Formats: sequence, structure tokens, C-alpha cells
Amino acid sequence: MTQCPKCKSTDVITDLTVQASGDLPPFVIVSEPAPADKPFIWIAKSERSYFTANVCGACGYTEFYATNHKGLLQGHKNGYKNKSIQPQP
Ligand SMILES: [Zn+2]
Repeated sequence: MTQCPKCKSTDVITDLTVQASGDLPPFVIVSEPAPADKPFIWIAKSERSYFTANVCGACGYTEFYATNHKGLLQGHKNGYKNKSIQPQP
């Protein structure tokens, strides 16, 4: 049974998929940096993860869990970098 770390309620709704209004739910991604001698055709390896959420039904406190945390960690250890969000023109 999951307990809310804020209010200690056990009315926590677990494993909810985090959704967005676009085609894909929110995600995080780490990608292989381009090598200095990048070939003409080169595609960065990457690891991405979506999230699930645990929501406390009593107070609304929410925790997010990355579904691909192992892949993210491996990518991070391999030197993959997180892309920052670029403002749209
Ligand atoms: Zn709570």
C-alpha cells in the first residue's frame, strides 16, 4: 500500500500514465553527442522515458516515475546529454 509522503494518507492512486495534448505524452530524453568527425549520415543514439504518476487522492500530492529509468541511467553513464527545450520562433 502506498502512503502519501505529505499527508500520510493511503488513498494514493498509483501507476497513472502521464498524458499531454500532443501526439505523445511528456518524456525525457538523453542523446549521444555528435562526434567531432561526424560522418555525413549519422543518427544519435538516445534513450527516452515516459512517466507514470502516483497521485494522493486525499491531498493531490503527485510523484512521477520514469518508465525507462534503467535506459536513462545507462545513457547518462555513456555520456548522453539531455536536450534543452528550444523556444519556438
Ligand atoms: Zn496526501
